[in-house]
Amino acid sequence: ASLNAIARHSALNAFVSVAPESHLLAKAAAAEARIAAGSPLSDLDGRLIAIKDNICTPSPLRTTCASKILGNYTSPISATVVDRLEAAGMITLGKTNMDEFGMGSHSVFSSHGAVKNPHDSDLSTGGSSGGSAAAVAAGICDLALGTDTGGSIRLPSAYCSITGFKPSYGLLSRWGVVAYANSLDTVGILSRNWRDARSLFSLLSAAPDTLDPTSIPRPNPKIRSSSTLRIGIPVDYNLHELDDRVRSAWIRTLESLSNAGHEIIPISLPNTKHALAAYYVLAPAEASSNLARYDGLRYGLRSEQDRVNGTLFAGTRGEGFGEEVKKRILLGAFSLSAGKMDNYFIQAQKIRKMVQDDFTAVFGRDEGDASQVDVLIAPTSPSPPPKIAEVADAHGTDGYVADVLTTPASLAGIPSISLPVEKGVGMQVMAQWGGEEVLWKVAEGLE
Ligand code: GLN
Repeated sequence: ASLNAIARHSALNAFVSVAPESHLLAKAAAAEARIAAGSPLSDLDGRLIAIKDNICTPSPLRTTCASKILGNYTSPISATVVDRLEAAGMITLGKTNMDEFGMGSHSVFSSHGAVKNPHDSDLSTGGSSGGSAAAVAAGICDLALGTDTGGSIRLPSAYCSITGFKPSYGLLSRWGVVAYANSLDTVGILSRNWRDARSLFSLLSAAPDTLDPTSIPRPNPKIRSSSTLRIGIPVDYNLHELDDRVRSAWIRTLESLSNAGHEIIPISLPNTKHALAAYYVLAPAEASSNLARYDGLRYGLRSEQDRVNGTLFAGTRGEGFGEEVKKRILLGAFSLSAGKMDNYFIQAQKIRKMVQDDFTAVFGRDEGDASQVDVLIAPTSPSPPPKIAEVADAHGTDGYVADVLTTPASLAGIPSISLPVEKGVGMQVMAQWGGEEVLWKVAEGLE
């Protein structure tokens, strides 16, 4: 049925490759037999999952990162998250379309062409995990993996009216996930409901991964025993530019939580206004370094131009990378250059620390520390999805404002879940690092 759904929804351009039918049927039959015998491998045994194309999967599925430079690339390894979900009986349905290397907010910067929003094909799915979001929103599968560096799971989830969960940095292994900006990259989950996201997260984060040096064991923080929560509203997220539909959905969400007895507490995170700019210095800086490895010598595309012109890799990189990726490499190399480093990269690192400290001031540093709130609730995006035609241009930096509300949690490495509250509008719930449990509590309260 899912293969038929992929074919029926081919105009969405959500998948870039699909597992062979015989393989899927054999896996499904084996899972069915285990379930019938009463011995499933996990509570997600036999469930289908779509995987973003920057997460390495075993052959024959390619891992292209939606880049021409990896157009025919098949990884010799598979990501730890993929190994773990398959060991739990889950079945990889295929790989999903995205912005090239995760760089973008609307899934239009892809060598495979733009992804379409299942609710309205003129609208953006959000990005960069747009294919994963479209697959779930179209009902092709219940679950998908994505990556979120500055909002790439939460934004498409909001635009496609599904649930999108970015865990605390370090809790899901990045081994086998193609790096965009290592210090910000997190693997996460897009799903039809928060319960599936919780199940898959607990499966994938069950133990740290020795292959990823930033992988850390899942903490076990005590949740305050009170049945009501202290919910912070970060007033700095109430931007002048917020669309009326977004602002009124935010108010309604807070009203319903307040009616359920939870305490609503306005708080301030004064450095929020600098987060977007700092993100767009740091992420391209890391990217410019990470993308140096695509030289045509070790991976993927090797351009004929280099042989003809006697160059080493100018031709390969010129042909292989898309416009947006080239722009990021240039921005990153600029802000890391000897004359600019102090004014850009170093300043942005300082801002990152200030943004992190803002969150810690309201959440408390650890259990013993006084905290003002248990969670924060704010819109995921300043507006519902824009038209694809309005965001398809890689010139300038106007498109970056879609990330203004998601980048603060990314800089701080804290967990955030975007919950669908109305068509094309999501609310994100954020907690202190390691505070996943309290996110599920809010999600349940908003059901
Ligand atoms: N839109 C942001 C960017 O282009 C975030 C992308 C992401 O989270 N991968 O960098």
